[in-house]
Amino acid sequence: MSDCIFCRIMAGQIPAAKVHEDELTLAFMDIGQVNPGHVLVAVKPHVENIFGLDDALAAAVFRTTARVARAVNQAFAPQGVTLYQANGAAAGQTVFHFHLHIVPRHDKDGIELVWPTKHPPREQLEANAARIRTALAHA
Ligand code: AMP
Ligand code: ZN
Repeated sequence: MSDCIFCRIMAGQIPAAKVHEDELTLAFMDIGQVNPGHVLVAVKPHVENIFGLDDALAAAVFRTTARVARAVNQAFAPQGVTLYQANGAAAGQTVFHFHLHIVPRHDKDGIELVWPTKHPPREQLEANAARIRTALAHA
């Protein structure tokens, strides 16, 4: 038996409140329900984080996310919806099997993300963009 909790859900070894399933993805209720209607969209194969997604999995997981987000929006009529997705412990990931959160949002619902903007000079933006363009050539 795998020690990955989401692989165990995929295998039907532990229960999940499923909302959508297809060949490559499974959407199910997050057990923590930060707000009512909080859904996780996970890839079926064990891929630890975004860096391991091939194009087919990446496309499939976002197609499912967009579709389920529309359904959550219709079913729970939140004031907004936040998508949250963490890669690595430093980024807040706690389950190391790729998934994306669909979180219904309400005014003053207690969810916080500190966003410490730096507004560097344009030359710094251009230098950072160049580093990523170089890396993209090999991605
Ligand atoms: P993350 O911090 O992005 O890795 O989020 C992991 C999420 O998985 C948390 O929000 C947990 O509440 C959720 N979670 C952990 N175990 C289960 C489970 N058995 N069923 C549903 N959700 C789970
Ligand atoms: Zn897994």
